[in-house]
Amino acid sequence: MSPRTFIIAGAGLAGAKAAEELRRRGFDGRVLLIGAEPERPYERPPLSKDYLRGESPREQAYVHAADWYADHAVELETATTVASIDPDALRVTLDDGRSLHYDALLLATGAEPRTLAVPGAQLEGVHQLRTLADCDALRERLNHGGHVAVVGAGWIGSEFAASARQRGLGVTLIDPVALPNERIFGPEIGAFYRDVHAQHGVELMLGDGVAALEGDGRVERVRTSSGRVVDCDLVVAGVGVVPRVQLAAEAGLEVDGGVIVDERLRTAAPGVFAAGDVARAVHPFYGERIRVEHWYNALHQGPAAAAAMLGDPVSYDRIPYFFSDQYEVGMEYCGHAPRWDEVVFRGDRASGAFIAFWLLDGRLVAGMNVNVWDVNEQLQALIRGRCAIDRGRLSDPDTPLDALAG
Ligand SMILES: Cc1cc2nc3c(=O)[nH]c(=O)nc-3n(C[C@H](O)[C@H](O)[C@H](O)COP(=O)(O)OP(=O)(O)OC[C@H]3O[C@@H](n4cnc5c(N)ncnc54)[C@H](O)[C@@H]3O)c2cc1C
Repeated sequence: MSPRTFIIAGAGLAGAKAAEELRRRGFDGRVLLIGAEPERPYERPPLSKDYLRGESPREQAYVHAADWYADHAVELETATTVASIDPDALRVTLDDGRSLHYDALLLATGAEPRTLAVPGAQLEGVHQLRTLADCDALRERLNHGGHVAVVGAGWIGSEFAASARQRGLGVTLIDPVALPNERIFGPEIGAFYRDVHAQHGVELMLGDGVAALEGDGRVERVRTSSGRVVDCDLVVAGVGVVPRVQLAAEAGLEVDGGVIVDERLRTAAPGVFAAGDVARAVHPFYGERIRVEHWYNALHQGPAAAAAMLGDPVSYDRIPYFFSDQYEVGMEYCGHAPRWDEVVFRGDRASGAFIAFWLLDGRLVAGMNVNVWDVNEQLQALIRGRCAIDRGRLSDPDTPLDALAG
């Protein structure tokens, strides 16, 4: 047996996939996977979609079968928190007082929901949605019907709103932005999603914030900044997440909008790596540090970090990708496009099936397929190719995507 011990702090998707990769690559030392939640690792996307609506079994959300960890000699410690790291001594301390030596340490501590900072946010009936436990409480609550005020029209808020409508609840979606996810997509796609929700009976209160939640012990209404009042039986706040960097920061590791790592996912401390929602990594393709808080990144960056822990010269350069399902609208988005100068469409948005292309200086920087499938890899290849693309051919459905390069 190799005498080495690899510790993974955070038993989410990135952590679980890193453990799997260590064993897949034949690492025969100790692997400790330490997770604060009482659950074995699970995937979060079903928590705002099919599992939340009661359409898929709990078992389907887990990353591995229950016996996988023992079968692969992965020492999974649930309901256990890594309390501190001593990077000089190569040791971590757990919340139960144990102190453990590591040869390599992966920080996969993920992200946590931002709390709603308004009066009344502590009232009963005010929920957030990050964990299986959060989801179980909401899943049960959806059985009782009523009206839900959803605060935040980002991914979690929008998907929860869709699932709640599908379960027959009344929904008011409140956000100070003018259009859902306008910052990422721009006005055209923002308007598309606004209309999708409106067509499904969601009352949209955009351009208006939440001033206070009110009720006698339990939330009964939301008061908006403009003075409107929304009577409700529950509130779900989806106001973004923040990377869980405290552990790294307290250990003196560099933290700036995430745990800072290079393209090999290494921090500056010997043997300490980071991956998933918590990591802000140098992206070789973009030449800058980016933090991606999506499923696909956790799925692939965890294993990449595992390879790096084993000394492989990895260079994590996958084009960022995410997906979202709302009602009958499924989409995939790829790219990293803080700026663009034009959006070109292929297909009619009104039909609900189309591709959107974001261009900067005539080159594709992001793409999104809505109810059109098996094209996202081609979109990623076009982004990676950085070639100038003819707009007419881009919008022409008869021109195959892979014929567009050059
Ligand atoms: C409801 C929901 C729906 C989503 N849907 C989509 C989707 O449709 N598409 C998409 O692309 N992405 C989606 N996401 C985002 C995706 O789930 C995340 O990007 C992914 O979970 C990140 O995985 P991670 O392992 O990096 O972090 P996390 O999932 O946050 O896991 C980190 C784990 O580490 C634990 N931990 C933290 N600190 C410590 C510590 N000190 N010691 C021990 N354990 C610790 C935490 O308790 C947590 O369990 C969704 C997220 C949510 C919440």
